[in-house]
Amino acid sequence: MSALMPTYAPSDLAFVKGEGVYLYTADGRRFLDFYAGIAVNALGHAHPHLVEALKSQADQLWHVSNLFTIPGQIKLAQRLVDASFADRVFFSNSGAEAIEAAIKIARKYHDDNGNPEKYRVVCCHNAFHGRTLATIAAGGQEKMLAGFAPAVEGFDHVAYGNLNEMRAAIGPETAAMLVEPVQGEGGVYGAGPEYLKGLRAIADEFGILLMFDEVQCGMGRTGKLFAHEWADIKPDVVATAKGIGGGFPLGACLATEKAAVLKVGNHGTTYGGNPLAMAVGGAVLDVLLGDGFFDHVIEVGNALEAALNNLVEKYPHLFVEVRGQGLMLGLKCNDNIENRAFKTKLEAAGLLVAPAGDNVIRFLPPLIIEQAHIDEAIAIVEKVADAEGGA
Ligand SMILES: *Cc1c(COP(=O)(O)O)cnc(C)c1O
Repeated sequence: MSALMPTYAPSDLAFVKGEGVYLYTADGRRFLDFYAGIAVNALGHAHPHLVEALKSQADQLWHVSNLFTIPGQIKLAQRLVDASFADRVFFSNSGAEAIEAAIKIARKYHDDNGNPEKYRVVCCHNAFHGRTLATIAAGGQEKMLAGFAPAVEGFDHVAYGNLNEMRAAIGPETAAMLVEPVQGEGGVYGAGPEYLKGLRAIADEFGILLMFDEVQCGMGRTGKLFAHEWADIKPDVVATAKGIGGGFPLGACLATEKAAVLKVGNHGTTYGGNPLAMAVGGAVLDVLLGDGFFDHVIEVGNALEAALNNLVEKYPHLFVEVRGQGLMLGLKCNDNIENRAFKTKLEAAGLLVAPAGDNVIRFLPPLIIEQAHIDEAIAIVEKVADAEGGA
């Protein structure tokens, strides 16, 4: 028995090496990784540019704390600002911390403006925003809140994709809305550009902040740096993480000048934005912002989506529909199969995918996949689907 707190129920698979889109076990078995550490390994495993950035920084300096100037932070923040809606960046180590910063911004913004009574954040059902006390309250899912009462105060929940419900939920105490442009854990579901535009209009009408959780759907996953860009709107705050470090722990909370209300003494973190993270984050951005990279994501995203749609047509008794955008795609399973059980069979056949809510199988491959990887993945799904029988 392991000395670990049993907070996870991991598969028995233990990998010792990763290369590109593949992972290897000690006994030499190879797996096609369409899980990418839950959308973290955006550039696959052991990407030479990232390895080089980490190694050369490791030779120079690891950590100094935020009590000293970290040039890499200033540089990476500027690059994120130049490439996005934002004017300011706060670096964290994880997605939940990036969301925490956003929640603190929502309260501080209105406090600064003489409206301290505005502190509530409207979130959506089926949301996932992290596992800290505030972010489980923001997520609002009973299964994550159970046992941890009292829940952090100040979160309301409405149906995802429903602008009428959102509008009706805004009250005199509302400070902000916090929404995933594409829901990840909840079942890989995006409500579309009109919804995001409608949220912007509601935020403007009521003078509240529009905050997006792009921890999973951001950093190129949908074929733009941030998923909200598809709606051609500017949010006030965006929290991101996962892909931003390509596997090195890193998160960021981005804000417009108006919403960048966190000042000296208001917020902080010991590790956030340390030199190692900044070096790798910069290397990830080099690749993401390189010529034609997002075009590639869109192209392979469309190809994977089409291939998954073919599976729905070929196995209507197993699969219901394809959801999501870019390389954040979900295959919804029919009631007669269970996504986790099917995922385990895919794993045994050499393909790693992630389960999500609503009986969905998530495909979150590294953004560097090629058509050949899609063909290989689909062939494995077909092999497992054929063995299911019961057409
Ligand atoms: C993973 C995730 C988080 C939490 O990020 P951590 O790094 O696990 O704290 C928050 N929001 C969304 C949408 C996520 O997918």
